[in-house]
Amino acid sequence: MYEDQNSKHHELLIIGAGAAGMMAALTARDQGIDTAIIESNDRMGKKILTTGNGRCNITNESTATGTDEAVALSHKYHSNQAGFPLPVLQQFGVRQTIDFFSSLGLPLIPLEDGRMYPMSLQAASVPGVFRLALEDRNVPIYFKNKVLDVIVSTEHPRFTIKCQMETEEQVVYTSEYLFLCAGGLTAPKTGTDGSGYTLVQRLGHTLIDPVPGIVQLKLDYPHLKELSGIKFEGHAHIIVNNEVIRTEYGEILFTDYGISGPPILQLSRKAAYNLGRGESVTLSVELMPGRTEEEIVEFLETHWGIFGHRTVADSLIGIINKKLIPVLLKEAGIDQQLHLLCQDLSWKTKKIFYRIMKHWEFKVTDTNSFTNAQTTAGGIDTTELIEGTLESKLVPGLYLAGEVMDVDGDCGGYNLQWAWSSGYAAAMALADRRNGKDGC
Ligand SMILES: Cc1cc2nc3c(=O)[nH]c(=O)nc-3n(C[C@H](O)[C@H](O)[C@H](O)COP(=O)(O)OP(=O)(O)OC[C@H]3O[C@@H](n4cnc5c(N)ncnc54)[C@H](O)[C@@H]3O)c2cc1C
Repeated sequence: MYEDQNSKHHELLIIGAGAAGMMAALTARDQGIDTAIIESNDRMGKKILTTGNGRCNITNESTATGTDEAVALSHKYHSNQAGFPLPVLQQFGVRQTIDFFSSLGLPLIPLEDGRMYPMSLQAASVPGVFRLALEDRNVPIYFKNKVLDVIVSTEHPRFTIKCQMETEEQVVYTSEYLFLCAGGLTAPKTGTDGSGYTLVQRLGHTLIDPVPGIVQLKLDYPHLKELSGIKFEGHAHIIVNNEVIRTEYGEILFTDYGISGPPILQLSRKAAYNLGRGESVTLSVELMPGRTEEEIVEFLETHWGIFGHRTVADSLIGIINKKLIPVLLKEAGIDQQLHLLCQDLSWKTKKIFYRIMKHWEFKVTDTNSFTNAQTTAGGIDTTELIEGTLESKLVPGLYLAGEVMDVDGDCGGYNLQWAWSSGYAAAMALADRRNGKDGC
């Protein structure tokens, strides 16, 4: 069934056998559409294998509680057109995703923070069940075919797709409808090299500058080597032009180039966009989470009052991660005075400690690259797509789904949720269109 190079015309061709492409293919086929997928890799869902630390965080049930679940879910997404994801999420949200995977024989289980994973806790199960379902439905997948160009005609067949095989042999496929599910720029080893952007830009679409999203931050800080490997729980804030623009809480990890951990990954798109605009970006972390500056002053004054006979270094044991203490002493300018007692601390030095505990600030110089990022922020401009159907306003019959467009989600299962939701919505829109055309 697979790589049947003779059946080169299909009603619907889908570029990309990633999350969005597999979902779209299955949905379209179930709606009676003759569908095939073209994929440059030798297998489907290669990126999925790397997701959720090898467990694949498929979706997140934490928004699936209130009366308007889709609205709550839509707040997890970012796009130049803020309202764009909602009509898609209203068609296929978290509950539909849970039911859908269950119907494929892949029950989901919730772990931390509402994140849902395959019961097997193996990411490979996800492309595994898609493969079985697509085989059951005889959906051809043309592997090792890299799409180089798409030509649009006003006659039939409407789309001509030029591909290059691994052997350098050129192959041409034709279709009446085309779905572009070619992903963004993250993890290029999984097949996403941004060629999807080029294909639709040539057809007149606009690319909103892609930047790495859900990625570690690089910091300009002289003592990073000493901090590398230290983890602590705290708040992290992104500050642009002296204004806090987003705050997250969780486990923060210093590395030899900068900083990582769930709250940092969550903040990273704001940092990336503002750095791209040439803004000065600062990251501030709180070492005593949940306390106001006044409460920190009161706490430390009392603490140093009781333990005035201890060295400053000893007095901080038990309050913050011990490995942070030498760096804090450097920040306060007392690292050469290891025997300095708390009772001898000057007011000026104390004020430095109060500030660091509440606002330890670092200059952000960059993000890590797309190779380390989990998603692409930016992408094909959604104002050029019809809301809810994802059909191109410029090229009728062309639909986009997944990460290729300017929609990205927070960390926690929301990017795959967008792939499932948008793949479904595009396929259903095409089915409705055909039914309308057929007069059914
Ligand atoms: C390390 C890592 C961990 C992640 N963890 C999670 C997680 O746990 N939960 C979550 O929600 N999200 C996670 N994500 C994000 C999520 O994987 C993506 O947002 C999602 O896979 C995007 O799906 P997609 O179908 O749009 O694109 P992709 O899955 O990237 O698929 C695109 C497909 O198109 C093919 N393709 C591209 N160009 C061409 C061409 N010219 N010709 C032919 N084929 C082409 C590619 O080979 C690829 O198979 C993670 C990402 C990474 C990198």
